[in-house]
Amino acid sequence: MTSSVRRPGDGRLDGVITAAFGRHYEVEVPPSSGAGNGETAALKCYPRGKKSVFACGDEVEVTQTAGDQGVIDQLRPRRNLLWRSDAFREKLIAANLTQVVIVVATEPGFSDMLISRCLAAAESQQIKTLIVLNKADLQEQLPTARTLLAPFERLGYPVLELSARQGADALRPKLAGERSILVGQSGMGKSTLTNALIPAARAATREISEALNSGKHTTTFARLYPIYNGWLIDSPGLQAFGLAHLGADELADSFIEFHPYLGQCRFRDCLHEAEPGCALRAAIAAGAIDARRFEHYRQIRDEIAVAKRQSQGW
Ligand code: GDP
Ligand code: ZN
Repeated sequence: MTSSVRRPGDGRLDGVITAAFGRHYEVEVPPSSGAGNGETAALKCYPRGKKSVFACGDEVEVTQTAGDQGVIDQLRPRRNLLWRSDAFREKLIAANLTQVVIVVATEPGFSDMLISRCLAAAESQQIKTLIVLNKADLQEQLPTARTLLAPFERLGYPVLELSARQGADALRPKLAGERSILVGQSGMGKSTLTNALIPAARAATREISEALNSGKHTTTFARLYPIYNGWLIDSPGLQAFGLAHLGADELADSFIEFHPYLGQCRFRDCLHEAEPGCALRAAIAAGAIDARRFEHYRQIRDEIAVAKRQSQGW
C-alpha cells in the first residue's frame, strides 16, 4: 500500500532529487506522519516550468498531486554543481556535493587526463576529492597504476587502494556524513562498489526507478542513495568530461599546483607556450610542476578555446 505524504501547512514538501530521467524526476520526500517507520517515499515529479533542469542531489519543494506523483515547485539554492559541457551541450551531473570520488582501476587501463578533468571540475566548485584505485587484488598491474597516480598524490590528493570484490570496507568511513558522487570510466568497478556498499538499497531503488521510468530498463542515469548519514550518487560511466563552461583563468586556478606561479609571468597575457619569462614553464623545468599535468591543462585549455569558437559559429 502506498501511503500518502501530506503535511500540514501549504502542502509543499521538501525533497531531494534522487534520479533524473530527462523530462521527469524521482524526488525523495519525508514519510507521511502515519507511516512511522522512518522510511522516505519517492514521488515521480514533473517540473512546473517547461525549461527547468534539475540534477541528482538538488533540493526542491514539491507538491504531491496524486498517489506517487508530484510537481516540482521550486529549486532551493545550490551549494555547488558538478557539470560537463562541450560547445553545444551541457549536462548537469550532480548538485550539493561535499565530495567527488574518482574511481580508477588497475585493469583495464585508465586515463589520467580524465582524472585531471574531474579534479578541475571539482576544484572549480570547491568540492573535495578522493581518488579510489579499485581492483587492488590484481597485483601485477598495481605498480603501473600507482605510477600514473603518483603525480596526483604528490599534490596532496588522497588515493585509496581497495578491492570492491573484497568488500570495499576501506571506503565506508570516507563516505560517512558526506554527500559523495562516484565518477569514472566504465569498467572501473563503480557498480561493484555500489553493490558492495549498499546492496539492499540498490536492489530496492532499481525497482522503484524502473517503475517510475515506465518500466524502461536503463542504467544510464545517476542515482542517489542515502548512506551513513549522508548520501552517495552512483553515476554512469564517463568517457568524456568537457569543461567548455570554465573560463581560462578558472581552469588555470583549478590546477592547484599552478597557484604560486599564476600572475608571475613576464607578460600579463602569457600563454605559457614559448614566451620568455614564463613562470609556469620555469616551474616545469625546475620540476616543481609535473609536465604531464601541464600537458593536461594545455589540452583542456585548447579544447575550451575550440568549443568557444564552435558555439559562436566560427
Ligand atoms: P563499472 O562500469 O564502473 O560500473 O564497473 P563494474 O562494476 O561493472 O565492473 C567491471 C568489471 O570489473 C566487472 O567484471 C567486475 O566484476 C570487475 N571488478 C569490479 N571490482 C573489482 C575488484 O575489486 N577486483 C577485480 N578483480 N575485479 C573487479
Ligand atoms: Zn607563462
